[in-house]
Amino acid sequence: MAIEKEGTSNKMDVDDPQRISVIYDKLKVSGCLQLMKKIPCHPASREDILTVHTADHWDKVMSYSLMTDEDIEHSEMFYGEKSLYVCRDTPIAARFSCGGVLEAGRAIARGEVKKAFAIVRPPGHHAEPLDAMGFCFFNNVAVTTRVLQKTTQFKRILILDWDVHHGNGTQLAFLDDPSVLYISLHRYDQGRFYPTGKFGSMNSRGEGNGFGYSVNIPWPTKGMGDAEYLWAFQKIVMPIAMEFSPDLVIVSAGFDAAEGDELGECNVTPPGYAHMTAMLCTLAEGHVLVALEGGYNLGSISSSAVAVVETLLGKPPLSINSLSVSEYGTETVWLVAREQSGFWKSIDVDSCEPNPGPRPQPPNLAETLKEHRQAFIYSGECLLSLPLLFDTARFFEGQVACTKDFGNSDVIVLFLHEFGKLSVLPDQATFNVQEEFTRLV
Ligand SMILES: [Zn+2]
Repeated sequence: MAIEKEGTSNKMDVDDPQRISVIYDKLKVSGCLQLMKKIPCHPASREDILTVHTADHWDKVMSYSLMTDEDIEHSEMFYGEKSLYVCRDTPIAARFSCGGVLEAGRAIARGEVKKAFAIVRPPGHHAEPLDAMGFCFFNNVAVTTRVLQKTTQFKRILILDWDVHHGNGTQLAFLDDPSVLYISLHRYDQGRFYPTGKFGSMNSRGEGNGFGYSVNIPWPTKGMGDAEYLWAFQKIVMPIAMEFSPDLVIVSAGFDAAEGDELGECNVTPPGYAHMTAMLCTLAEGHVLVALEGGYNLGSISSSAVAVVETLLGKPPLSINSLSVSEYGTETVWLVAREQSGFWKSIDVDSCEPNPGPRPQPPNLAETLKEHRQAFIYSGECLLSLPLLFDTARFFEGQVACTKDFGNSDVIVLFLHEFGKLSVLPDQATFNVQEEFTRLV
């Protein structure tokens, strides 16, 4: 949903107005449109927007309509840094976008349709109660959730966010609210991927009464595809969603995790999106509202959107062959399962454990030496193991030791111990280079 590398992307190349028209045209060509009903769209009102955003934020966005050409030119860099396009039509576009999602939700609540797909722009999931960012001005999905909760029978709402970016604005809007379950699958890259920081990490799980109702599935790297997404759905998303038992599912449907999207660099295919949609349609008596968020490859977003809509219309998803979950995917799902299992009873941590593979691993000399060193340094009872609080700490567990008076000392002397050089010498008889033939030089 945002420009990842400052200065390397042309803004107009990214959030292209054609994103709307290509999806619409492809729905027409595929025959979906003829099976759908158009829902009249109205701009969201100030009252609607204020269910999530502050009056100051509303005023600020509304004031864009008064900007002169000079104001726009002078502020371009300021808004560019926040990944925002601003012009005099921004306020009405943002209100229509939000109103589009809201009217689709109202149509479901009135029973006119059971499922809906809102093709809207600008997107919303980065917009926070106090601020606009990442192409988003008003949080379309969050406002729809709040207004529907206030005015319709939909009280418990699941927001599933499969946009490749973390929906910081949406999670923030419901952080302490147990009536809204927010689940996001996104690239995290140890906090370096947009919107950056720790808010999208797996231990960011909500606050107060809402603790446990924010579920982040943060991918550590690019390249995640159908296998990883469907594995996460089977092991985390669906068990938690069924336990939560929502009245309505709203999907923050960015298609920037789609195969071909240069910002997301992931590989979810149209059948992958169809399978996720099919699973979500088993919840909430089939009440599902899908709202467009990001996605910047016109071909990818339109094919993905058609696959989602066909599924909403009842077509079974195409089968996907050879689903092999990567090590990163298995590891992430397992760690999230461990994090969430204390709160959600339906999570089966054991079934998520990374598969060690069919072949027994050869003894690892480095690990053996590490264990020996640990046993040696802790045996004299003069050293304590220092707890580590960063994400990958488990790799270094027991490897950082300190003296007992560590906290009271003015001077800290740090020793780094390195093993000798490990080299693999081929077994002379077989030329086998397995690790059991590793020698310490
Ligand atoms: Zn995005």
